[in-house]
Amino acid sequence: MIPVLGVEGKRVAVLGLGRSGLSAARALRAGGADVLAWDDGEAGRAAAEADGLAVVDLARQAALDGVDLLVTSPGIPHLYPVPHRVIAAALEAGVPVDNDIGLFFRSVGLAGWAHLDTPPRVIAVTGSNGKSTTSALIAHILEENGTPVQLAGNIGRGVLDIEPPVDGEVIVLELSSYQTELARALTPDVAVFTNLSPDHLDRHGGLGGYFAAKRRLFAEGGPDRAVIGVDEPEGAFLAGQMSEGPGDGRLIRVSAARKLAGPGWHVFARKGFLAEWRKGRQVASIDLRGVAGLPGVHNHQNACSAYAAVRALALSPKAVEKSLHSFKGLPHRSQLVAEIGGVTFVNDSKATNVDAAGKALSAFKAIRWICGGLEKDGGLGALTPALGSVVKAYVIGREAQGFALQLADTETEICTTMEVAVARAAAEAEPGEVVLLAPAAASFDQYDNFEKRGEDFIAQVKTLRR
Ligand code: ADP
Repeated sequence: MIPVLGVEGKRVAVLGLGRSGLSAARALRAGGADVLAWDDGEAGRAAAEADGLAVVDLARQAALDGVDLLVTSPGIPHLYPVPHRVIAAALEAGVPVDNDIGLFFRSVGLAGWAHLDTPPRVIAVTGSNGKSTTSALIAHILEENGTPVQLAGNIGRGVLDIEPPVDGEVIVLELSSYQTELARALTPDVAVFTNLSPDHLDRHGGLGGYFAAKRRLFAEGGPDRAVIGVDEPEGAFLAGQMSEGPGDGRLIRVSAARKLAGPGWHVFARKGFLAEWRKGRQVASIDLRGVAGLPGVHNHQNACSAYAAVRALALSPKAVEKSLHSFKGLPHRSQLVAEIGGVTFVNDSKATNVDAAGKALSAFKAIRWICGGLEKDGGLGALTPALGSVVKAYVIGREAQGFALQLADTETEICTTMEVAVARAAAEAEPGEVVLLAPAAASFDQYDNFEKRGEDFIAQVKTLRR
């Protein structure tokens, strides 16, 4: 844990006592704040009480009297669709509202760390898809090359839960739009924007609000280096805003769709090759086709973003290339589970929506596709272009029949359970084919979460080995 600096003797209310809220409350207490904690749910309050925190109903009349700051959690609406009533009361009373990310940035780089020869640096990653993969890959590359590193934020642990940094350490933060929208300080050394596609629109008042939330990472912090995916208009616009001119070396543009030209600093992937260009010259080229942990164009985009971020810290292309090969990927995202009799089994249980499933499908050829679950709005139409490589679909979920009906041009089999789907797909698969779990649906009809669904897939695959 790192204590929050600048809060000594202040009265700070913490709303939401999940992972990040509890760690914020502890870090505030360690920084000398007088902490009042509240969660609308019993479990959060019990956890806080067990930790010796003062639990106070912040929704009570006058509860915010004398409070200097309200710290809240990403799961709690602060603006759209409507602010939580405690947040609304704080805004009405003029009490500043912040989150653990804001507290973190207020506490790094301050006097407490001045004894280090090389102060810690922070790489922050935001975007719609690929944040976790990109953040984990950045941490992996740095670690492999002997840099002390900690991974936190939306992935791993809460930002204030990290160990006090050592000399030369890099802290890699994955930040969601909820987190960037609210943080009152955002000052990473390197900021990364992966891509933008519609998500969480109810919490941001539409796509513009969603983009604005992510943009704050760049607008507020003025990072030393910005890595920006320019394949969507929003990324291209953001890159334009960050740049002082075509040759501005503080900005690295990233594309997984096209060759980027001009005198600036560019990293792009085309036909399975990553290329780095700077000042009109090619600096490096890496063959990504044999990188097992990063299959597909979407992962090549993640590889480019991570590559650019560590190049911004002056790692050599050779060093980066080597560690790309040793990246195992994250569980439940294009995770290579096994190869049995020439058939590859891949777990992308995180593909809970059509967009992510489409990306997963386009990463492989000759696919035995396990899909289905709790469908999201919008149907499966957007998947059509990706279905060409599907040999057959094995549909799971309580609504498997309805799901299969939407796959008219694809051979389907109703399996309902993972056990049946894995057994049937494995029995029918030919050597060279891939059995891919990429459900294009949420898991809640049969599982607690996408992790449990992915674990079930892995467990079923293991039974095949006997
Ligand atoms: P996030 O943390 O942003 O949710 P993840 O790395 O966890 O991203 O990946 C989530 C899902 O999105 C996975 O199913 C994966 O296949 C897909 N995905 C990963 N990277 C990208 C990308 N760059 N573009 C589009 N989809 C991606």
